[in-house]
Amino acid sequence: MYNPKDHLKRLVETHAPSGYEAPIAELLREEWAELVDEFDSDRLGSLIGIKRATTDGAGSPRIMLAAHMDEIGLMVREIEDGFIYVHRISGIDPRVMLAQPVLVHGERALPGVVATMPPHMLTAAERKKYNPIDALVVDVGLPAAEVERLVRIGDLVTVEGPMIDLKGRLAASKAMDDRCCLAVITVCLQLLRGMNHSWDVYAAATVQEEVGLRGATTAANHIEPDCAIALDVGFAEQPGLKTAIKLGGGPLIGIGANFHPKMVQRLQDIAAYYEIKLQADIIPARAGYDSWAIQVSRGGVPSALLGIPLRNMHSPVETLDLKDIERAGRLLAHFICELDASFLDYLSLMPAESA
Ligand SMILES: [Zn+2]
Repeated sequence: MYNPKDHLKRLVETHAPSGYEAPIAELLREEWAELVDEFDSDRLGSLIGIKRATTDGAGSPRIMLAAHMDEIGLMVREIEDGFIYVHRISGIDPRVMLAQPVLVHGERALPGVVATMPPHMLTAAERKKYNPIDALVVDVGLPAAEVERLVRIGDLVTVEGPMIDLKGRLAASKAMDDRCCLAVITVCLQLLRGMNHSWDVYAAATVQEEVGLRGATTAANHIEPDCAIALDVGFAEQPGLKTAIKLGGGPLIGIGANFHPKMVQRLQDIAAYYEIKLQADIIPARAGYDSWAIQVSRGGVPSALLGIPLRNMHSPVETLDLKDIERAGRLLAHFICELDASFLDYLSLMPAESA
């Protein structure tokens, strides 16, 4: 039987940094097989699950949902005496990498650890600074000749470790950004199986968000949606970080130039009707999310952003509340069911013509 937590666990424990998303696309093809009518993809590798309108489908308007498949990761830069040195593919924070278990994706996947200097050997000054990415050393525990044989420059290195079940409804893992939002789409698709909707749903699992919204750009141009909702994580309050956004406080809704005011309004109305709590995520100017790219595809696509509150972003212990995933998925499903023929007119930002 489908278990949302197990589904999320499979998603976050899959290794797929930016540009190398095939393993997660493969997993999603299995997980979504029963939930969509067909699959499509853009030529960069974004996977698009299409669920056709349940009413007489031909020529229905399209809503695009987008969540990115890629995670932050490292790449082998140099191998010396059997030790591996790395480059950053995107957003990895060197402060959290010391003593971290990793997987080196050589000829076969090799478990490794990021080496750390014993504190006894550090001067007082050295203890206060942290190493840049260039100084990280990955140790796979094999003789130098064996490492040379199995690992090449350009191979991937990713954070390794199981999803951690915290008390209450919380869970922590690498790659919650943005696999938790793929799980939101899964919740939505599950619910839509028992609901009627007159728009076609294009669920896009995008590639290369972390290196510049590349997959969202190509997927949007490929799908040509009439409106879109991107899904990503947002900064929740944690010790030392004051914000009004709370873990477990409900999904985030992006407010700002990137987000179509009437899309935002409709999402807020539907959330209020179904008593789903929403939290405002104020992003007045540039938004570094897939919605930023989708909004300016074609002649412009009315776009919105739903988010999952997250602590410890871009670390191996990205922490969230599972309830927020369920709520966001439910909101999406209700939003989609309420879409009708008049919604395209409703989205117009032009003043009504006077009679
Ligand atoms: Zn993200």
